[in-house]
Amino acid sequence: MIDLSLMKRVQVDPVARRAMVEPGSTLADFDAVAQTHGLATPLGINSTTGVAGLTLGGGFGWLSRKYGMTIDNLLSADVVTADGRQVRASEAENGDLFWGLRGGGGNFGIVTRFEFQLHPVGPNVLSGLIVFPFSQAKPVITQFARFTQTMPDELNVWMVTRKAPPLPFLPADVHGKEIVALAICYVGDPNEGKKLVEPLRGFGQPLGEHIGVQPFTAWQQAFDPLLTPGARNYWKSHNFSRLADGAIDAIVKYASKLPSPHCEIFVGTMGGQTARVAPEAMAYSSRDANYVMNVHGRWTEAADDERCVDWARAFFDASAPFALGSVYVNFLTGDEAGRIGAAYGVNYERLVAVKDRYDPHNLFRHNQNIKPSAQV
Ligand SMILES: Cc1cc2nc3c(=O)[nH]c(=O)nc-3n(C[C@H](O)[C@H](O)[C@H](O)COP(=O)(O)OP(=O)(O)OC[C@H]3O[C@@H](n4cnc5c(N)ncnc54)[C@H](O)[C@@H]3O)c2cc1C
Repeated sequence: MIDLSLMKRVQVDPVARRAMVEPGSTLADFDAVAQTHGLATPLGINSTTGVAGLTLGGGFGWLSRKYGMTIDNLLSADVVTADGRQVRASEAENGDLFWGLRGGGGNFGIVTRFEFQLHPVGPNVLSGLIVFPFSQAKPVITQFARFTQTMPDELNVWMVTRKAPPLPFLPADVHGKEIVALAICYVGDPNEGKKLVEPLRGFGQPLGEHIGVQPFTAWQQAFDPLLTPGARNYWKSHNFSRLADGAIDAIVKYASKLPSPHCEIFVGTMGGQTARVAPEAMAYSSRDANYVMNVHGRWTEAADDERCVDWARAFFDASAPFALGSVYVNFLTGDEAGRIGAAYGVNYERLVAVKDRYDPHNLFRHNQNIKPSAQV
């Protein structure tokens, strides 16, 4: 374990729109500095996540349809390699290492500084939630699947189904009951965004909504209370090019038997700029993943381990026939070493070659491991 959590400096050059970010920074640390200049780069949707691990696996969130994956905005990285050298990786220097770092995780060295491209964002954005009763799950998710295929890049809509937390804008008798929520973020003129999200309300009869113009940093923290540290977790994930009827049926079936109030199924919408990069351009290859689904098996008591893990696995199996077969490496669970090939697809062999060059003895192996050829 190499603890970099004290290295949290974030420096922004607002004229060049670039950020230098140390690897102990969380998304909250990064956004706080960049947003003082009305700038941001695509990161994830929980502000407590670390910039380093998220970036090295790929990274996506509300801004990704407009500005791409986090790695599409990585300009350079300073790296300490397995043999103790300090090197810079960019398009111009150590290009093979730079290629591997953009999706290949912590396999090649320790990143001590990231350099990112920034974009004008907010500082206020139209964002929020529309919540529907679970009895309308099938039509709501079906319409979500259609709507998200043609929406503009500035708009992102994700779907989550779970038991309702005690949100103040929901009637008290809904708290603790299954619901379907659409989470919305529009990165553009809020008045334009308001027109674009209007049809979403017609997907069913909403139980409540909380949509408005709020600081981007606040929206980045909106989901933090649902994913606090300390719970027991078992997550599984699929990539989809589209959400087929069978996938929607599986979501509705398994969301109707959530084994704990903390379990959820969410579908993050990708596409837009994330899909306009060639799969071989960098280690992350899933450019055809228009939807990334994550099953958050999450509970608090050890006695519930088997029940909750079984539920996540059964849903994963039921939805597999409709999925692409690839997977986002940052959503792999500890017991999924067998899916590393699926995570990298066409790029796997080239990643092994980069591993052979930078870490031939597999010093960096406590990760989603790309084995050097000597160890295969
Ligand atoms: C609550 C939650 C929400 C999430 N939401 C999203 C999301 O919206 N979008 C998304 O893309 N992902 C998301 N993820 C997945 C997330 O990208 C991964 O969990 C990622 O590994 C987190 O990185 P970290 O730095 O916080 O974790 P860490 O545990 O610190 O790092 C994970 C691994 O990354 C490698 N690593 C970390 N730092 C370095 C470094 N400096 N140099 C070399 N290797 C390093 C190591 O192998 C390490 O074991 C989420 C995860 C959680 C828990």
